[in-house]
Amino acid sequence: RDLPGDPEFSPGVRQVHGALYSRVEPTPVAAPRLLAHSAEMAQRLGFSKADVASPEFARVFGGNALLPGMQPYAANYGGHQFGHWAGQLGDGRAITLGETVNAAGERWELQLKGAGPTPYSRTADGRAVLRSSIREFLCSEAMHHLGVPTTRALSLVGTGEWVERDMFYDGHPELEPGAVVCRVAPSFIRFGNFELPASRGDVAVLRRLVDFCIRRDFPQLHGDGEALYGEWFAQVCELTAVMVAHWMRVGFVHGVMNTDNMSILGLTIDYGPYGWIDDFDPDWTPNTTDRQHRRYRFGQQPQVAYWNLGRLAGALSPLFDGVGPLQDGLRRYVEAYTAADRDNTARKLGLVECLDEDIGLMQVLQELLKATEVDMTLFFHGLAAIDPVAPNLASLEAAFYDDAKRDAAEPALRDWLTRYAARLAQQALPDAERRARMQAANPRYVLRNYLAQEAIDRAAQGDLGGVDELLELLRRPYDDQPGRERFAQRRPDWARDRAGCSMLSCSS
Ligand code: AMP
Ligand code: MG
Ligand code: MG
Repeated sequence: RDLPGDPEFSPGVRQVHGALYSRVEPTPVAAPRLLAHSAEMAQRLGFSKADVASPEFARVFGGNALLPGMQPYAANYGGHQFGHWAGQLGDGRAITLGETVNAAGERWELQLKGAGPTPYSRTADGRAVLRSSIREFLCSEAMHHLGVPTTRALSLVGTGEWVERDMFYDGHPELEPGAVVCRVAPSFIRFGNFELPASRGDVAVLRRLVDFCIRRDFPQLHGDGEALYGEWFAQVCELTAVMVAHWMRVGFVHGVMNTDNMSILGLTIDYGPYGWIDDFDPDWTPNTTDRQHRRYRFGQQPQVAYWNLGRLAGALSPLFDGVGPLQDGLRRYVEAYTAADRDNTARKLGLVECLDEDIGLMQVLQELLKATEVDMTLFFHGLAAIDPVAPNLASLEAAFYDDAKRDAAEPALRDWLTRYAARLAQQALPDAERRARMQAANPRYVLRNYLAQEAIDRAAQGDLGGVDELLELLRRPYDDQPGRERFAQRRPDWARDRAGCSMLSCSS
C-alpha cells in the first residue's frame, strides 16, 4: 500500500511523526492453542475445516507464524478520550497481519489483538487477557447476527502465558491467562487515524489517508475535491447514525466511545467495557471508570456519536475552504439518526409505520420501563405476545425485577397497553404479522453480562463449552430456541449489582 509508513522497524515505544503505520511483527507466545473459532468467518475467508484444525492455524492466529504475503503493521492514530484530546494512541496491542480477498471478491483485513508490544503500546504490555478476549470474540459475532454493523471475530487463541492485570482495582495485581483474538473487518480505520495528522498540522498525510480511505473503503463514491470529501464525510455520518440506532434497538452499551474507537465504516469496534441493558436504564454504563460522569451511558450514545463526528469534522476541516460541507454532513447524521430511531419505534412496537404520535407512545413506554425496572429484552418479547383486543400484563410478568415497582406501575402500564391496543387497531396488519415484525426487531437472546461471565468462569477452568454454547445460541438471536430458555431469562439477583462481572475498564 502506498501510504507513508514509519521507517523504523522495531516495537520500541515512541512518537511516530509523518507516518500512518509502523511495521511490527507479533511477539510469539509460549503455547498457542485454538480455544474457539467462528466457523462462518473461517469459511468466509476460505479456510477449510482441516486448515482450522491444523497447528499452523493456532500458530498464525496466536502470533507465532506468518502466512506468505503477510506484512504485519500497527496503525498510528490519536483520539479524544472522555472528551479530551489524548494525542498519539495507535494500535498498542493490535497488529494487522494483512488483507485477503476471498472467493466472493470481498476484501477482509485480519488483525490480532493481544499480540504483543508495538510502538504505540505506551506503558502497557500489548497483551490481552482471556476474559476480555472471550468478551470481544463472542460479542462481535453476536452483534453480526443481530444485524448490527460490526467487526467480526475469526478466532480465539490461548497463549499459554500469564498476563498481569489489576482486575479489581484493589492494588493487588492478578495473573490471568492471556489470549489473542483475530478480528476481521473490511477496514479498521478510525476517526482517530484522521485526527492525529490533523492535530500535527500534517495536511499532506491527512489528505493521503482520506484519498486512500475513499478509494478503498468507499468505492461507490466518485468525483473529486471538496464535493467528494463532503459526500464521503456525510456517508460516514450516516453509517455512524445507523450503527448507533441499532445499539439502541438491541440494548447495547459500547462503554468507551472515544474517537479512537469509532470506525470510519460505522462498524462497532473495540469491544472492551461494553455491556447489555438488562433493566431498561438509559443512565446505565458498564464502564467502571465512567461511573461518575457517565459520559458513555446507554441513553447518551446518539449524542456522543454526534460529538465524535464533530471531532472528525474538525480534523478534516483543512481539506475544505469553508465549514459548509462538514455542517451538511453533521446534519445528515441528525436526519439519518432520526429516521432510524423512528424505524426502531415502528419495528419494536410492530407498527407498519411510525406516525408522529408514536414517538410519544414510545417515550411514555420508556419512562415507564425505566421507573419500573423492567427488563428491556423480555418486555418487548412479551409485548409481541399480548392480545391486541384485550391486552393484559400476563405475557410481561417475566420482565419485572421488582414486585413492588411492578404493582405500583400496574395502572400506568394498563393505560399504556390500552393506548397501544388502540393504535394497533388503527392499522390493518394481521396480528401474526405484527408478531413476526416484532420478533425480527426485538432479540430473544442477547449476550447478557452475567452469561458472558459464566462462560468466562468455565473457560478459566479449561472448559470452553460455555463459549461454544453462547456462540451457537447467538447465531440465531431472534429465534425461540427450545431447550435454551435459561439464556432468555432475567439477570439473576446474584448478578444484580454486577459484582464479579462488573469491573470492566478499557484496557484488560
Ligand atoms: P482502548 O481504551 O482499549 O480503546 O485503548 C486505548 C489505547 O490504549 C489504544 O491505543 C490501545 O491500543 C492501547 N492499549 C489498551 N490496552 C493495551 C495493552 N494491554 N497494551 C498496549 N496498549 C494497550
Ligand atoms: Mg481502542
Ligand atoms: Mg480496547
